[in-house]
Amino acid sequence: MTHPIADHADVVILGAGQAGLQAALSLREEGFTGTIQMIGDESVLPYQRPPLSKAFMLGTMTEDALELRPQAMLDKLDIRLATGVAAVRIDRSARRLALSNGQSCGYGHLIIATGSRVRRWSAAGAGLDGVAYLRTLEDARALGARLESADDVAVIGAGFIGLEFAAVAARRGKRVRVFEAADRPMARAVTPAISAFFRERHEIAGVQVSCGVSLAAIEGEAGRVSGVRLAGGEVFSAQLVLVGIGGIANAEIAAEAGLAVDNGVVVDEMLLTVDPAISAIGDCANHPNPFAGGRVRLESVQNAIDQGRVVAARLAGKPQPYRAVPWFWSDQGDLKLQMAGLTAGFDDQVEIGSREEARFSLLAFREGRLIGIESVNRPADNMLARRILARSEPVTRAEADAAGHDLKSLAGGRAA
Ligand code: FAD
Repeated sequence: MTHPIADHADVVILGAGQAGLQAALSLREEGFTGTIQMIGDESVLPYQRPPLSKAFMLGTMTEDALELRPQAMLDKLDIRLATGVAAVRIDRSARRLALSNGQSCGYGHLIIATGSRVRRWSAAGAGLDGVAYLRTLEDARALGARLESADDVAVIGAGFIGLEFAAVAARRGKRVRVFEAADRPMARAVTPAISAFFRERHEIAGVQVSCGVSLAAIEGEAGRVSGVRLAGGEVFSAQLVLVGIGGIANAEIAAEAGLAVDNGVVVDEMLLTVDPAISAIGDCANHPNPFAGGRVRLESVQNAIDQGRVVAARLAGKPQPYRAVPWFWSDQGDLKLQMAGLTAGFDDQVEIGSREEARFSLLAFREGRLIGIESVNRPADNMLARRILARSEPVTRAEADAAGHDLKSLAGGRAA
């Protein structure tokens, strides 16, 4: 059942993705009885993005299974959702959103949950047929169809999405080559030991991973992709090029409304913008995060869900700062990588488990304190890591040594 867009709602949620939907669901869970209107520019119900580069791309998960909640549940919870409608302007003085269909919608409180979009290839060849991106269900449908007919696939960027897609493409029998400008894969998010391990395993699976390379152009013939050209002149043939070079916050609408924007919508620890009637959550929010030791913008399901919960609790009269332990996962071939905490700036590492059996975890320390745990095919370690990192006092290197690096005993220590 589609409802007309409300002329005014107590809470308007701009963006119907992971964070926006969570905020709506949590508002109801917290007992909020006011009106909720969600506005989303995609034409489908809110869905999970992670499988788009994993099971969905591999063909082992259907489109229906991506849906986060059925329409009937939203109706039952009295959450109004308008799909296929974009907000084009925020009028802060009138507290109204102007919409792409010519309507407008007033808000008591506005939650900006507009997510992020892909960074586009800006050098030569950007407009060629066969240059693909992966952010939306629509992208995934198009990319999956393209993959069928390609023999050689080039992936630009060895980040999570690029490598996940590369692993799927290799499993689907394609010749895959990944090109990365940094000197190692996933360099911004994982420690060098994990980068090296994954690089080796991708190579064993038949994916060539070239790091430290500079690409000059995507080459084409008759308007279609034919390959990629390195700065040195070398050309690799490809009928499909996936560009996975990072995301950009959808924050223009906030900036145009005069809100502070700096790599995302700037919010405080309560996830409030400079305007007390507007919050921002999820991929689009630049927030203070105790685990980052400063401001950060995170692109993860955990962050989207936990920020949705925190903003909902505040609007339901239970304010609390955002302090959730960051965690993330990535499935690449038969490897499940999971991270808890943020390991940037680590200066010391301890390994547990067996690298040979591809079941191990790495404890990362900075200045003698545990800041993150990366796990490969050890999901139980990730669950414990999240508990350990949630403790009010960080685990020290000495404490970890004394416990023989046994995560269970560290998790059972002092409570948070
Ligand atoms: P989104 O889910 O992107 O939702 C934002 C919505 O707002 C979008 O529908 C957007 O179109 C809409 N919107 C934007 N502007 C407007 C406007 N003006 N008007 C109306 N609507 C608007 N995270 C993990 O933790 N683990 C993973 O393994 C993982 N894998 C991923 C794989 C892929 C292929 C992708 C793309 C992402 C993956 N992520 C993963 C990241 C995760 O999906 C995101 O962090 C999460 O979706 C963020 O939620 P969000 O609500 O902030 O943004």
